[in-house]
This record gives sequence, structure tokens and C-alpha cells, in this order.
Amino acid sequence: MGSWEIRNQMRRRVAQEEGVLRKGAALNVALCHPAAYPVAMSSLGFQAIYREVHAHPDAAAERAFLPDDPGEHRRSRTPVFTYENERPLADFPVLAFSVAYELEITGVFEMLDLCGIPALRAERESGRARHPFILAGGPQTASNPAILLPFVDALVVGEGEDVLRQVLDILVGAERRDWRALLARVPGCHVPGVTTDAPAPVRAPDGRLPACSQIVTADTVLSSMFLVEAGRGCSRRCAYCVMRGPRCGGMRAVPMEEVLRRIPAGARRVGLVGAAVTDHPQIREIVREVVSGGGAAGREIGLSSLRADRLDEELVRLLAAGGCRTLTTASDGASQRMRDLAGRDTGERHILRAAEFARDAGIGRMKLYEMIGFPGETLDDIDELVRFALELSKVVPLSLTVSPFVAKKGTPLGDAPFEAIPSLEAKLARTRSGLRGKVEVKPASVRAAWLEHMLSQGGESAGLAALDAWRGGGRFAAWRRAFAAIQGGDAPLAP
Ligand code: SF4
Repeated sequence: MGSWEIRNQMRRRVAQEEGVLRKGAALNVALCHPAAYPVAMSSLGFQAIYREVHAHPDAAAERAFLPDDPGEHRRSRTPVFTYENERPLADFPVLAFSVAYELEITGVFEMLDLCGIPALRAERESGRARHPFILAGGPQTASNPAILLPFVDALVVGEGEDVLRQVLDILVGAERRDWRALLARVPGCHVPGVTTDAPAPVRAPDGRLPACSQIVTADTVLSSMFLVEAGRGCSRRCAYCVMRGPRCGGMRAVPMEEVLRRIPAGARRVGLVGAAVTDHPQIREIVREVVSGGGAAGREIGLSSLRADRLDEELVRLLAAGGCRTLTTASDGASQRMRDLAGRDTGERHILRAAEFARDAGIGRMKLYEMIGFPGETLDDIDELVRFALELSKVVPLSLTVSPFVAKKGTPLGDAPFEAIPSLEAKLARTRSGLRGKVEVKPASVRAAWLEHMLSQGGESAGLAALDAWRGGGRFAAWRRAFAAIQGGDAPLAP
């Protein structure tokens, strides 16, 4: 795929999109997502910020994504272009990155490098060339924004919708040399080298909710699905989660009428988004209205998170009527002992009952997310998981997605160590062998989880180590070398 084919692929994608925004404006922002297009365009937060930038009278946003094949861009010397006007990122005065989680940091490096923009702020400032101003924000800032600080000119920490207006006012109205000093006065803005303390995350006022799709397209992982936020945050207290109630202030449920009002009459597939959608007090009514709307054929529906203890027969039947073919929920603890440690409200009886509802409603499969590697977990806990998964699989065909636990700062389990990689691999092997031929087991990468742990726990030096690892080729050995080099600094020891 050469430069011509890369552009053609972009044009084919744009031709499939509905809702693209275009306008002439004093300030053009390249809104960058360090994930590939099919994943990035399924991000409701990214779409919400796209709309917010355009809502400013003097600003317009053009989207750019991590290329599907960065190596091909490199070979063909093709920079990253925006989808709206096919302009290279280096031509923009401002790049705004939306970062979802720690490992996407290498996507930021890749996109900048492909455009000849130094990743390090210090390098951009010391050279003679004038480079774009780099802003960043997104869900990652709620967990450990420090790793981004060496690379950005300013960071918006928390929910950006509301402060974005103030940020854009400065970028439109002030001289560039004053931007950083002025941004440092905006709530939630962290301007490295100017602000001394990390700001508290900003929270969008309730009137800003719900976020909903601006662009709908078939070419995403949530093909042609219109997304609308049913609630933000969560009232539960899972001890490992950055969205837990005491940290984020609890779930802000969007009134049913408001959710329904945002759904276009012609939407055939609707996704309800939120950290804990099934905790919405009117979830049954909302799902019923969505499924029965949209004409005689009804609509398809997807929910971003199903809590097994909130599922009942009616809700599962409604989901089946809305096209659900796999009931996806989470256990997140190999045994009851581990679920108690993790503060999970969901037990075996809830999951078993949900499996029975799924079977009775004609839903052909259950997918269960599981987490292993909590502190103090033993092989007895893994054996309990295997025993329960076998029991469940007699009710409904089961897929088990097993991920290692990654401690996040600011949570009750935030200081927990990462279990040694060989030990986690042995537990995964025991799970697989206990379930062979009966349950489909999909293990997440233990090595990727370790990298996420190191980036979640580290400070700015962990971000710099990520740059070294990426420059060193990005293989696991390069990451280990890079983290080893900063041991004794602010990153924890490797396993
Ligand atoms: S893991 Fe889910 S249910 Fe638990 S606090 Fe986080 S968002 Fe809420």
C-alpha cells in the first residue's frame, strides 16, 4: 500500500461517514486519536470533543488517527493526514490528542514521528522549526496523567467538554507565546513547567450530558451504531477501578427522556454507553423504548456494560429482541474470596442466573470477563474459577476473557504489585487446561498488562522510558531495558 492507496483508503472511509463537520475557521485543530480508525471512531469521548470544537464560533476540528499500518507510511514517506481535508499534522497550529489508556502513548509517538514532529516538548522548543502546539486529554488523564507530561504543551485533566471552550478562546484570541501561561489558569489544565501542582480533574456539569455520536459509519468496531451516553461515572466501589463511586462522585444518570431525545429517528443500531449502564434507574424502560422504536423492524441495541446482578428476565429478553447474540458481563475475581477483596458486588448466583436468562431468551453465548492476579490469589482461587466456568458452560456456551490485574493509582488497590509474569502465565495455563474443549478461553497478553502496570504506576520517567522503548523497536526486551534504566527513579521494579 503506497501513498496513493493510503489516501484512497481514507477517502473510502470518509465516503461511508454520515455527520462529518466542515467549516472555515480562524483556528484549525487536528483532533488526533492514537488508535486506528475502527477503534477510535467507536470512542464516544472523541466524538464529543469533535463536536465541541466545532461548536466554538472560531474553531474547527479535523480528525487524524494512528495509521492502520504505520510501517507502510514510513516506507512510502507518507505523513499522517487529517480525514476531512487531507492536511498533514505538521501544518496545524494545534494538535489535540485524546488518550484512552496508558499503552496508547506509543501511538502518540508514532503519529508525531511520521510527521517529523519531535515527541519531546524540550526538543520542539529548542529547535528552529516551528511545530504545532500539543494538547492532550481523555480518559487516561483520570488515572495517571504524569506519563504524558514530557510530551505535551498542556494537558486537560478530567472531563474536557466544558473547559474546552475556555481553552479554545485562548488559542483563538491570544498570541501563541502567551498560550501556556494563560492555559495554566484554566481549571483542570496542567501546563508542565508552568503549573506546579497537578490540578484536580475537572468534571463537566450535568447539563453537558449526554455525549452522543456525531459521525456514524459502518467502518468501525461498532458498525453503524449510534452511541448515546446513559450515565457517567459509577456508584459502585470496586477497589481496583478509577471510576469507583468515592473517586468520581457516583453515577450521573441521564434522564430517560434526554437519552431518547438524542437518538435520530433513522438510527437502526443504538449503543447505550456508560461505566455502569445497567445501574441506570430506568434502564428497562430505556431499552424497551429503543428496541420498539425505529419502525416496524425495531432497532438493534448494545449496552457497553452489563452488571449481572442488575439483569432480570425482562431485560435479557429485551436485549435478545434488540439483536443481542452474546450476553457479556464481568466477574472480575477468580473466586468469591478475590471478588470480596476487589469489592465486587456480583457473585456466582448472579452470573448463573444471568446465564439462565440468556439461554431462555435464545441468546446463544455468554462472554465473561475475568481478572486474575489480585494480591494473595492462589491456585485454589483459579480452581474455583475453573469449577464455576464448567458449571456455567452447562447452561450456555461460554467464552472467558482473562486479564491480569493492573493496579491504578488513587484506588484502594493502587499500590498492589504486579504478580510475576511466570506465575500469571502458569495460572492462565491451568485455566486453559481445566477448561479445554468445554469453554473458549481468551487470555489477554500478560506482557502488555505488565507494561500497562509500569506506565500506570510510574511518573514522568516512565513516560520517557516508553519513548526509549518505542525508539528501541517496541519489543518487550526494549521495554524491559528502558524500565530497567530508570529503576531507582519513580517507576516500580520489573517482575
Ligand atoms: S468496575 Fe465497573 S462496576 Fe466497578 S466501580 Fe468500576 S465501573 Fe463501577
